[in-house]
Amino acid sequence: MALTSKQYLDSLRDGREVWIDGGRVEDVTAHPGFSMAARTVAHLYDTLHQSPADKTLTWTTPRGAVSHKAFKLAKTRNHLLDRARAMRTWSRMHFGFMGRSPDYKAGLAVSLGASPDFFAPFEGNCQAWYDRLADDVLFMNHIGVNPMVDRSKRPHELPDINIKVTRENDAGFWVSGAKMVGTAAAFTHCNLVFSFAPVPLEEADSEHALVFIAPTGAPGLKLLSRPSYELAAKDRSPFDYPLSSRFDENDSTMVFDDVFVPWENCLVYRDADRANRFFVHAQVVQNLMLHGGVRLATKLEFLAGMLTKLAEQNGTINYRGIRIRIGEVIGYAWTVGALVRDACTSPDPGPNGTVAPSHRAIFALRALGPAIYPKVRELIQLVGAGGFIQLPSSSKDLLAEQLRPYIDKYYRGSGATAEERIKLWKLAWDAIGSEFGARQELFERSYAGNFDNVRLENLFMAERNGDVPEWTDLVDTALGAYDLNGWTEAPWADPLADDAAEAG
Ligand SMILES: Cc1cc2nc3c(=O)[nH]c(=O)nc-3n(C[C@H](O)[C@H](O)[C@H](O)COP(=O)(O)OP(=O)(O)OC[C@H]3O[C@@H](n4cnc5c(N)ncnc54)[C@H](O)[C@@H]3O)c2cc1C
Repeated sequence: MALTSKQYLDSLRDGREVWIDGGRVEDVTAHPGFSMAARTVAHLYDTLHQSPADKTLTWTTPRGAVSHKAFKLAKTRNHLLDRARAMRTWSRMHFGFMGRSPDYKAGLAVSLGASPDFFAPFEGNCQAWYDRLADDVLFMNHIGVNPMVDRSKRPHELPDINIKVTRENDAGFWVSGAKMVGTAAAFTHCNLVFSFAPVPLEEADSEHALVFIAPTGAPGLKLLSRPSYELAAKDRSPFDYPLSSRFDENDSTMVFDDVFVPWENCLVYRDADRANRFFVHAQVVQNLMLHGGVRLATKLEFLAGMLTKLAEQNGTINYRGIRIRIGEVIGYAWTVGALVRDACTSPDPGPNGTVAPSHRAIFALRALGPAIYPKVRELIQLVGAGGFIQLPSSSKDLLAEQLRPYIDKYYRGSGATAEERIKLWKLAWDAIGSEFGARQELFERSYAGNFDNVRLENLFMAERNGDVPEWTDLVDTALGAYDLNGWTEAPWADPLADDAAEAG
């Protein structure tokens, strides 16, 4: 049965080793740098237990557990559409600002559930993990990228850095090393550890060629958090930082200091070929990016709405240039939404009678997201301009009697009181300009791999799926219609017309 919000929060008190600002976090659900984000995730779990049940959100697994629809194996395009609709319900609860939530890694769970045979001899582990993840709606994240120490080196050339097997016995194996970075790892139940790099693993990297699931509370696993934006916002009112203060999912470097991995948590072991192929074979990118697309569409819709309100309050909404900029953001939101729909309605066949979101739509989304998000942020800055800086230092200024008359007069907007205007513009600044807002851009840029690879892989994909040969054939058709002597094909080379011209 899907965890309740209370069970979820209790489950985070498992002795996990989360570190921040030089100290160990005793309890992420109570720590000022994490508690509000934990509460946001808990609130998502609440929606799975509404009465009457929300049928767009939940389904019952074959084992009788009420679960989130993101975990349901899809056999038809309608199943994929159901999955996307359920993800949208949750995305709208954080306006698309949380990249990780239990339904995000459901994309990996369904990949495991659809193709356990790929993971032989660990197919039983694969099936058991899918069942557990789906039945309890467990929150899993992934960590694939090696620490940024020296990108010119192969994994085995940095054996003290990259996660590798150190020893094994009948019960399992031990790993040491680190990965960057686990988004929301502090709030998860477990993390899928694998290898994700622009260069595939080779035979020499076999000690690093692993795919396994590590419970977040595993002894020896240390989460080294980045600064908490939630903590930075703690001294302020939600009026000042309405997003940072509740949606900061944090990102941690994950250090594995001699962590034991029982065999039942292993999916690929010392197998470079399988570790390289698993993402493509199990259609992981397609399944994961469906959530990425739904979430990004929600965020762009939110930003388009926010931008419209900013322009209204500034009295610039009827200027052509401003309307063009808002229209551009709307176009991006529609494009992402349309790709999500296409991903569901033109699915690819998957293993064992399943379907996966269309690789064409998903790979397009994967390359488009990192390109458009910085542009959207720029468009918002161009519309809002100095309005983001003509803001009082904090909500306390509005509460200061001596200042209030000036604030009410000089900070009001078109059709908006000073309080209404400052509230909106502080929300907008948190979305695009605060440390939280800036991290959102880096997150979207890095969402599904490095900025170059997400485009490079489109060409590999189109070479393999027949698109490139079909398109180059089209060019050959154009080239085939003429040569140095003129037209060679009808209707341009029309023998009857040529004869008539000669006779005339
Ligand atoms: C906010 C945020 C959250 C993240 N969350 C997660 C997460 O939850 N889980 C996770 O696994 N990862 C996460 N990541 C990591 C993310 O997946 C990577 O940042 C992304 O894949 C890009 O990889 P990289 O940062 O190692 O950059 P690199 O791949 O090192 O690329 C940096 C630059 O160097 C160039 N370069 C690097 N190697 C080569 C090469 N061999 N040949 C040619 N050029 C090269 C690239 O083209 C690029 O321009 C997160 C990152 C961010 C910023």
